[in-house]
Amino acid sequence: MARAVVITGPSGVGKGTLIRSLCERLPELELAVSATTRQPRPGETDGEDYWFLSAAQFDARVRAGAFVEHADYAGARYGTLRSELESRMAAGIPVVLEIEVQGARQVRESMPAVLQVFIAPPSLDALRARLVGRGTDDPEQVEARLRTAEEELAAQDEFARVVVNDRLEDAVTELVEVVRPATGTL
Ligand code: 5GP
Repeated sequence: MARAVVITGPSGVGKGTLIRSLCERLPELELAVSATTRQPRPGETDGEDYWFLSAAQFDARVRAGAFVEHADYAGARYGTLRSELESRMAAGIPVVLEIEVQGARQVRESMPAVLQVFIAPPSLDALRARLVGRGTDDPEQVEARLRTAEEELAAQDEFARVVVNDRLEDAVTELVEVVRPATGTL
């Protein structure tokens, strides 16, 4: 089995926070840095949080077949570069992908052995409160992300495992137990 895991679920559900804790608990794991055409948020660094690309740069990489998966999301483009996966997977380093649902579906097609975990909010209201509370998106963005979230939540049954992020510590514990066998980190 490929030593990789996809973590998906709606924006604002806490995927980033959960993955940071997951990587602390399973230090062998490495997070693939995605490419995006959205603007960097304050404090985000190119090559660490994302590879920030122009639309033309992104298109060129799509044409060159450089992406494992890519998707349009809330007015921007996002994708996982093969270069983020291949060298790590060849070296046996387990990789985490933090991606939205359309991208997760593409990975399911191309790499069916990769474990996919859907992170769900306790409720849509809780998700709205988190998206508003983190203050990273303007009101229009919050609404766009919530509309997409409803579709994403409807798709959760497609995923092998669903972890509800209600109490963070409980969700981290559950996620570690779900991911550990799939990464060979025993
Ligand atoms: P944000 O703009 O909040 O950083 O990310 C928006 C959404 O895009 C989140 O659900 C995030 O998980 C997803 N995302 C981040 N990187 C990728 C990627 O490489 N591919 C896909 N398909 N989605 C991504």
